[in-house]
Amino acid sequence: MSITRTQPVLLIHGGAWAMPDDAIEAHQHGIANALRAGWSALERGGTAVDAVEAAVTVMEDDDTFDAGRGSFLTRDGRVQLDALLMNGENLRTGGVACVERLRNPIQAARLVLDKSPHVYFVGSGAEQFAAEHGMNLIANADLIVPRERDRLTAFLAHEASGGTDTTFSGEPTLHSHDTVGAVALDRHGNVAAATSTGGTLAKAPGRVGDSSLIGCGCYADNLSAAVSLTGWGEPIMKLVLGKWAVDRIAAGSSPQQAAIDAIDYLYTRLGGHGGIILLAPDGSIGLAHNTPRMAWGIANPQGHQLGITRN
Ligand code: ASP
Repeated sequence: MSITRTQPVLLIHGGAWAMPDDAIEAHQHGIANALRAGWSALERGGTAVDAVEAAVTVMEDDDTFDAGRGSFLTRDGRVQLDALLMNGENLRTGGVACVERLRNPIQAARLVLDKSPHVYFVGSGAEQFAAEHGMNLIANADLIVPRERDRLTAFLAHEASGGTDTTFSGEPTLHSHDTVGAVALDRHGNVAAATSTGGTLAKAPGRVGDSSLIGCGCYADNLSAAVSLTGWGEPIMKLVLGKWAVDRIAAGSSPQQAAIDAIDYLYTRLGGHGGIILLAPDGSIGLAHNTPRMAWGIANPQGHQLGITRN
C-alpha cells in the first residue's frame, strides 16, 4: 500500500499598503528569512501549524513589520499585539489580543491552541496564561522602536493641525499596514493559517482589529482553505472577510478568484483596502490587494519566490 504525500506549500505576506521605495529591501529581506524558517519546518516533516508559527515568529522578531517589536503604537504610546493561529485539520485555534508583554504573541497563540480548552485570551489574562506555560514577560518598552515613537508624534501633530501632513493622507490602510501572515499546506494534506499584528497606527488602547479574530483576518479549514488578511481591520471585521473568502472556495471558486472577489467585496461594500492570501488543500493559491503595494513570498519544492506586487 502506498502512502500519498502532498507537496508542501508555504505562502506568506508582510503587509499591503503604500509601502515607500526605501522600505522594499527590508521587507524582502524579512520575507525571505520568514520563508526559510517556515519552509525548513515543513521540510523537516513539521506540520502546517509549525510552519506558519515559525514564519510569523521571524517576522514578529523583525522590526520592519507591524508585528511584535517595531509595531505601530497606540495613541498613548504603547505596543498592543494581537495574533491568531488556526489548524485546518481539526479547527483547533489559539488567539491572543491586546498583549503588551510578549515578544512573540503567535507563540502564545500556539500555546492556547495546544494547551487550553479555550480559544481566545486577552490582555493580562493572555499574558498570565503564556507565562504559566513558560513564556517570558518583557517590558512593553522592549517592543518599542524609535522609528515608531517618531511616527506617532508626527501623526498626532498631523491630527492636531487639522491634517496637513501628506504622509498621512487617505485612510489608514494607505500609510500603515504591515501586519504579517502565513498559510501553509503540509505533506499530510493539512492547512493552517497565522496572522499577527500591532494593529493600526495611533489606535485607541484596547482596540482589537481583524487580524486575531477567527474568520476575519485569519481562518483555516481543510474543507475549504487557509487565509490571512492585512488591511483596514474595521471593514474586514464587519464582512468576516476571511471566512467569506474560504466559503467561496468550498463552493467551487479557485483561490485566485476568491482572493480577487474578496478584495472587490471589501471595496465595493465598505470602501475598504487590504490584501489577502489564500491556500487550498490541493496546493492552489490566491493573492490579491487593492493597496499600492503588497509584500509576499511563496515556498514549495520547486524553490522560493519573493514579490512586492504593485497596483
Ligand atoms: N488589519 C490590521 C488591523 O486592523 C492592520 C494591518 O493589517 O496592518 O489591526
